[in-house]
Amino acid sequence: MNNSHKYNGTYAHTLATAVMALTIIAAVIFTSCARQQYSRPTITVSIQPQKYLLEKIVGDKWDVKCLLSNGANPESYDPSLTHLLNLENSKAYFRMGNIPFESAIINKVHNNNPALKLYNNSEGISLITGTHSHGSGQRDEEPDPHTWTSVVNARKIASNMYNAMVDLDPDNKGYYADNLRSLLTELDALQDTIAAGLADKRGTAFVVWHPSLSYFARDYGLTQISLSPEGKEASIGMLQETIDDAKAHDAKVMFFQKDIDSRQAQVANEQIGATLVNINPLSYHWDKEMLNIADALSK
Ligand SMILES: [Zn+2]
Repeated sequence: MNNSHKYNGTYAHTLATAVMALTIIAAVIFTSCARQQYSRPTITVSIQPQKYLLEKIVGDKWDVKCLLSNGANPESYDPSLTHLLNLENSKAYFRMGNIPFESAIINKVHNNNPALKLYNNSEGISLITGTHSHGSGQRDEEPDPHTWTSVVNARKIASNMYNAMVDLDPDNKGYYADNLRSLLTELDALQDTIAAGLADKRGTAFVVWHPSLSYFARDYGLTQISLSPEGKEASIGMLQETIDDAKAHDAKVMFFQKDIDSRQAQVANEQIGATLVNINPLSYHWDKEMLNIADALSK
C-alpha cells in the first residue's frame, strides 16, 4: 500500500512535470505564433521623407513601409507587385498629395482592398502652380508635388499625419500628441537654423535641373531657376534662354540630383559657372537634406 502510494506519488510528480513542460512549450509556441500573427500594423507612404516624419509620430506602434525606394525617380515610378502587396496589407495609405503616381496606385489597389484608409499629407498646404507639367502640357494648373522640401510645410505635414493617426488609432492619441510635440520642437529648431543662415540671401537665385525646391525657395524668398521644368531634356533654344536667365540672376549654386537629373545640367553649368551641389530631396534623412541645401545657399 505504502509502496503503491509511493509509486503513485512519483508517477503523479512525473506527470505534473511533463504537463508543466508541455505547458511551457505550448506557451512558447503560442507566443512566437502570436508575435508573427499580431505583428505591428502597417501604414504605407509614398516617399522616404514621409517615412522619416511619420516614424517620429508613430514610434514603435506601427510599421511604416515606403513605396519609393532610395534613388528611384517619382516622375517615372512604376510600383512593383511587392509594393502593391504591401499596400494591400496596410491599414492605411498616406499619399504625399500630388505626386503623379499616387492616383494611379490608389485606383489599382482600391479594388483589392476597399477597406484601405486614404489620407493626404499635403492637405491644407498652399500649393504652388506653374512649375510642372508632367507631360500633360498644362503647366499653369498642375500643383507642384514637392511639398516636403520645406520646413514650413513639414509642420503641416506632421500635423496632418497626427490627425490621421488619431483617426486610425484613437486609443493612443496621447502618445501621438507627445511625439508630435517633440517633432514640432525639432522642426522649429531646424527652421530657426535655416532662416538665420539665409536671412541675408533673400532675392538671390539658384539653379536646379528639375524644379524640386519651389517650396523651399518660397519659404526664404529665393528664386528657383529650373533648366527642365518639363522633366525631360530641354530644347537647345529653351536651355540657352534659361542659362542666360541664371547668369543674369548671378546664380551661385546649382543643385544636382545624380540619380535623376540629366547630364545636360552639368554641361549647362559650364556656362553658368555655379557651384555644383549634389542633393537628394527624396532621402530618408530629410532634415540633413534641408540643412545641406540651406548650407550651400548660405555661403
Ligand atoms: Zn517634380
